[in-house]
Amino acid sequence: MIKLRNINKSYRTEAISLHVLKGIDLDIRQGEYVSIMGVSGSGKSTLLNILGILDTYDTGEYRLNGTLIKDLSEKQAAHYRNELIGFVFQSFNLINFKNALENVALPLYYKDIGRKKRNAMAMEALDKMGLKDWAHHLPSELSGGQKQRVAIARAMISNPKVILADEPTGALDSKTTVEMMGVLTDLNRQGITMIIVTHESSVASVTNRVIHLRDGIIEKDEPFVQEQKI
Ligand code: ADP
Ligand code: MG
Repeated sequence: MIKLRNINKSYRTEAISLHVLKGIDLDIRQGEYVSIMGVSGSGKSTLLNILGILDTYDTGEYRLNGTLIKDLSEKQAAHYRNELIGFVFQSFNLINFKNALENVALPLYYKDIGRKKRNAMAMEALDKMGLKDWAHHLPSELSGGQKQRVAIARAMISNPKVILADEPTGALDSKTTVEMMGVLTDLNRQGITMIIVTHESSVASVTNRVIHLRDGIIEKDEPFVQEQKI
Protein backbone atom coordinates (compact mmCIF):
# COMPACT_ATOMS: atom_id res chain seq x y z
CA MET A 1 0.00 0.00 0.00
CA ILE A 2 3.02 2.26 0.52
CA LYS A 3 5.78 2.43 -2.05
CA LEU A 4 8.67 4.87 -1.81
CA ARG A 5 11.28 5.07 -4.54
CA ASN A 6 14.49 7.03 -4.13
CA ILE A 7 12.91 9.72 -1.97
CA ASN A 8 15.08 12.74 -1.28
CA LYS A 9 14.21 15.66 0.94
CA SER A 10 16.20 18.71 1.93
CA TYR A 11 15.29 21.62 4.17
CA ARG A 12 16.61 24.87 2.78
CA THR A 13 17.17 28.15 4.49
CA GLU A 14 18.84 31.15 2.89
CA ALA A 15 22.24 30.09 4.09
CA ILE A 16 22.20 26.29 3.99
CA SER A 17 20.51 23.22 2.60
CA LEU A 18 20.14 20.22 4.89
CA HIS A 19 19.80 16.88 3.08
CA VAL A 20 17.53 14.96 5.49
CA LEU A 21 16.30 11.94 3.49
CA LYS A 22 18.84 10.44 1.11
CA GLY A 23 17.29 8.08 -1.40
CA ILE A 24 14.73 6.19 0.66
CA ASP A 25 13.27 3.01 -0.90
CA LEU A 26 10.51 1.39 1.13
CA ASP A 27 7.55 -0.91 0.58
CA ILE A 28 4.93 -1.48 3.25
CA ARG A 29 2.04 -3.85 2.61
CA GLN A 30 -1.50 -3.51 3.89
CA GLY A 31 -1.76 -4.89 7.43
CA GLU A 32 1.93 -4.65 8.32
CA TYR A 33 3.08 -3.68 11.81
CA VAL A 34 6.20 -1.58 11.40
CA SER A 35 8.40 0.56 13.59
CA ILE A 36 10.90 3.17 12.45
CA MET A 37 13.84 3.64 14.79
CA GLY A 38 16.76 6.02 14.80
CA VAL A 39 18.41 8.67 16.92
CA SER A 40 17.03 12.19 17.14
CA GLY A 41 17.61 14.06 13.89
CA SER A 42 17.88 10.93 11.71
CA GLY A 43 14.81 11.96 9.66
CA LYS A 44 12.08 9.80 11.24
CA SER A 45 9.46 12.54 11.57
CA THR A 46 10.28 13.90 8.12
CA LEU A 47 9.71 10.44 6.65
CA LEU A 48 6.46 9.97 8.57
CA ASN A 49 5.20 13.42 7.53
CA ILE A 50 5.86 12.57 3.88
CA LEU A 51 4.00 9.27 4.29
CA GLY A 52 1.11 11.21 5.86
CA ILE A 53 1.09 13.81 3.05
CA LEU A 54 1.75 16.49 5.65
CA ASP A 55 5.00 17.36 3.91
CA THR A 56 6.36 17.15 0.36
CA TYR A 57 9.56 15.59 -0.98
CA ASP A 58 12.01 16.88 -3.58
CA THR A 59 12.72 13.93 -5.85
CA GLY A 60 11.61 10.31 -6.15
CA GLU A 61 8.16 8.75 -6.10
CA TYR A 62 5.65 8.02 -3.37
CA ARG A 63 2.68 5.81 -4.22
CA LEU A 64 -0.09 5.33 -1.72
CA ASN A 65 -2.63 2.67 -2.68
CA GLY A 66 -1.39 3.01 -6.25
CA THR A 67 -1.84 6.79 -6.40
CA LEU A 68 1.24 8.89 -7.11
CA ILE A 69 1.46 11.38 -4.25
CA LYS A 70 3.23 14.26 -5.89
CA ASP A 71 2.38 17.91 -6.58
CA LEU A 72 -1.04 17.52 -4.99
CA SER A 73 -3.18 20.54 -4.23
CA GLU A 74 -3.95 21.01 -0.52
CA LYS A 75 -7.48 19.86 -1.29
CA GLN A 76 -6.30 16.61 -2.91
CA ALA A 77 -3.81 16.00 -0.09
CA ALA A 78 -6.58 16.48 2.48
CA HIS A 79 -8.79 14.10 0.54
CA TYR A 80 -6.24 11.25 0.64
CA ARG A 81 -5.40 11.97 4.27
CA ASN A 82 -9.05 11.84 5.28
CA GLU A 83 -9.69 8.67 3.29
CA LEU A 84 -6.69 6.65 4.31
CA ILE A 85 -4.63 7.98 7.21
CA GLY A 86 -4.96 8.43 10.95
CA PHE A 87 -2.32 10.32 12.94
CA VAL A 88 -1.13 9.89 16.51
CA PHE A 89 1.49 12.21 18.01
CA GLN A 90 3.70 12.21 21.10
CA SER A 91 2.02 15.36 22.42
CA PHE A 92 -1.51 14.05 21.66
CA ASN A 93 -2.47 17.24 19.74
CA LEU A 94 -5.88 17.47 21.37
CA ILE A 95 -7.77 20.75 21.46
CA ASN A 96 -7.56 21.86 25.09
CA PHE A 97 -10.88 23.69 25.29
CA LYS A 98 -12.86 20.84 23.75
CA ASN A 99 -13.86 17.74 25.68
CA ALA A 100 -12.88 14.19 24.68
CA LEU A 101 -16.07 13.61 22.70
CA GLU A 102 -15.71 16.88 20.76
CA ASN A 103 -12.06 16.13 20.00
CA VAL A 104 -12.90 12.69 18.62
CA ALA A 105 -15.88 14.03 16.63
CA LEU A 106 -13.92 16.86 15.01
CA PRO A 107 -12.73 15.00 11.84
CA LEU A 108 -16.36 14.16 11.10
CA TYR A 109 -17.29 17.85 11.18
CA TYR A 110 -14.96 18.34 8.21
CA LYS A 111 -16.70 15.47 6.45
CA ASP A 112 -20.04 17.29 6.77
CA ILE A 113 -21.57 14.66 9.03
CA GLY A 114 -24.43 16.00 11.19
CA ARG A 115 -23.92 16.73 14.87
CA LYS A 116 -26.05 13.91 16.24
CA LYS A 117 -24.37 11.26 14.10
CA ARG A 118 -20.94 12.74 14.85
CA ASN A 119 -21.49 12.49 18.57
CA ALA A 120 -22.86 8.95 18.36
CA MET A 121 -19.86 7.79 16.30
CA ALA A 122 -17.42 9.58 18.60
CA MET A 123 -19.02 8.00 21.67
CA GLU A 124 -18.67 4.56 20.10
CA ALA A 125 -15.00 5.21 19.28
CA LEU A 126 -14.36 6.38 22.86
CA ASP A 127 -16.18 3.33 24.19
CA LYS A 128 -13.84 1.06 22.21
CA MET A 129 -10.93 2.79 23.95
CA GLY A 130 -12.57 2.24 27.35
CA LEU A 131 -13.26 5.94 27.80
CA LYS A 132 -17.04 6.23 27.61
CA ASP A 133 -17.23 7.66 31.12
CA TRP A 134 -14.63 10.29 30.26
CA ALA A 135 -16.37 11.66 27.16
CA HIS A 136 -17.27 14.99 28.73
CA HIS A 137 -13.92 15.63 30.37
CA LEU A 138 -11.40 18.12 29.05
CA PRO A 139 -7.90 16.91 28.10
CA SER A 140 -6.52 18.64 31.21
CA GLU A 141 -8.65 16.29 33.34
CA LEU A 142 -7.21 13.15 31.71
CA SER A 143 -3.99 11.20 32.32
CA GLY A 144 -1.37 10.92 29.56
CA GLY A 145 -2.53 7.42 28.68
CA GLN A 146 -6.16 8.54 28.52
CA LYS A 147 -5.25 11.50 26.31
CA GLN A 148 -3.44 9.19 23.91
CA ARG A 149 -6.49 6.89 23.81
CA VAL A 150 -8.64 9.90 22.91
CA ALA A 151 -6.14 10.73 20.15
CA ILE A 152 -6.33 7.13 18.89
CA ALA A 153 -10.14 7.24 18.94
CA ARG A 154 -9.93 10.45 16.90
CA ALA A 155 -7.51 8.82 14.45
CA MET A 156 -9.81 5.81 14.07
CA ILE A 157 -13.04 7.75 13.60
CA SER A 158 -12.67 8.10 9.84
CA ASN A 159 -11.89 4.42 9.41
CA PRO A 160 -8.31 4.80 8.12
CA LYS A 161 -6.29 2.09 6.40
CA VAL A 162 -3.06 3.16 8.07
CA ILE A 163 -2.13 4.75 11.39
CA LEU A 164 1.03 6.86 11.49
CA ALA A 165 2.23 7.34 15.04
CA ASP A 166 5.16 9.65 15.83
CA GLU A 167 6.64 8.65 19.20
CA PRO A 168 3.17 7.75 20.55
CA THR A 169 4.64 6.59 23.86
CA GLY A 170 7.24 9.34 24.17
CA ALA A 171 5.31 11.17 26.89
CA LEU A 172 4.09 8.08 28.76
CA ASP A 173 5.52 6.11 31.69
CA SER A 174 6.61 2.52 31.11
CA LYS A 175 3.41 0.89 32.39
CA THR A 176 1.22 3.13 30.23
CA THR A 177 3.57 2.50 27.29
CA VAL A 178 2.89 -1.23 27.56
CA GLU A 179 -0.88 -0.58 27.65
CA MET A 180 -0.65 1.75 24.66
CA MET A 181 1.26 -0.81 22.62
CA GLY A 182 -1.52 -3.28 23.49
CA VAL A 183 -4.06 -0.86 22.01
CA LEU A 184 -2.00 -0.35 18.83
CA THR A 185 -1.39 -4.10 18.49
CA ASP A 186 -5.14 -4.76 18.73
CA LEU A 187 -5.83 -2.25 15.97
CA ASN A 188 -3.17 -3.86 13.79
CA ARG A 189 -4.80 -7.27 14.36
CA GLN A 190 -8.02 -5.73 13.04
CA GLY A 191 -6.18 -5.08 9.77
CA ILE A 192 -4.93 -1.50 10.19
CA THR A 193 -1.45 -0.92 8.82
CA MET A 194 0.52 0.45 11.76
CA ILE A 195 3.67 2.53 11.36
CA ILE A 196 5.25 3.70 14.61
CA VAL A 197 8.21 6.01 14.98
CA THR A 198 10.04 5.37 18.23
CA HIS A 199 13.45 5.43 19.78
CA GLU A 200 12.50 2.88 22.42
CA SER A 201 13.55 -0.66 21.51
CA SER A 202 10.88 -2.03 23.89
CA VAL A 203 8.27 -0.38 21.66
CA ALA A 204 9.90 -1.54 18.41
CA SER A 205 10.11 -5.10 19.73
CA VAL A 206 6.32 -5.33 19.82
CA THR A 207 6.12 -4.69 16.05
CA ASN A 208 6.84 -7.23 13.30
CA ARG A 209 9.34 -5.21 11.32
CA VAL A 210 11.92 -2.65 12.39
CA ILE A 211 13.31 -0.09 9.98
CA HIS A 212 16.48 1.59 11.23
CA LEU A 213 17.05 5.08 9.92
CA ARG A 214 20.47 6.64 10.24
CA ASP A 215 21.35 10.04 8.92
CA GLY A 216 18.57 9.91 6.31
CA ILE A 217 19.39 6.42 5.04
CA ILE A 218 17.71 3.08 5.77
CA GLU A 219 20.53 1.29 7.49
CA LYS A 220 18.66 -1.91 8.33
CA ASP A 221 15.16 -3.25 7.65
CA GLU A 222 14.51 -6.41 9.59
CA PRO A 223 11.63 -8.65 10.47
CA PHE A 224 11.32 -9.09 14.21
CA VAL A 225 11.27 -12.86 14.66
CA GLN A 226 9.43 -14.42 17.56
CA GLU A 227 12.54 -15.52 19.55
CA GLN A 228 13.68 -11.91 19.73
CA LYS A 229 10.39 -10.90 21.31
CA ILE A 230 10.84 -13.21 24.30
P1 ADP B 1 13.77 12.88 13.90
O1 ADP B 1 12.27 12.81 13.89
O2 ADP B 1 14.43 11.58 13.55
O3 ADP B 1 14.31 13.43 15.18
P2 ADP B 1 13.44 14.98 11.93
O4 ADP B 1 12.88 14.35 10.71
O5 ADP B 1 12.50 15.73 12.79
O6 ADP B 1 14.25 13.89 12.75
O7 ADP B 1 14.59 15.99 11.52
C1 ADP B 1 15.69 15.61 10.70
C2 ADP B 1 16.60 16.81 10.50
O8 ADP B 1 15.90 17.83 9.77
C3 ADP B 1 17.03 17.47 11.79
O9 ADP B 1 18.35 17.90 11.64
C4 ADP B 1 16.10 18.65 11.93
O10 ADP B 1 16.69 19.68 12.64
C5 ADP B 1 15.83 19.03 10.49
N1 ADP B 1 14.49 19.61 10.29
C6 ADP B 1 13.32 19.01 10.58
N2 ADP B 1 12.28 19.77 10.24
C7 ADP B 1 12.80 20.91 9.71
C8 ADP B 1 12.24 22.12 9.16
N3 ADP B 1 10.91 22.29 9.09
N4 ADP B 1 13.10 23.06 8.73
C9 ADP B 1 14.43 22.88 8.79
N5 ADP B 1 15.03 21.78 9.28
C10 ADP B 1 14.23 20.80 9.74
MG1 MG C 1 10.87 13.24 15.34
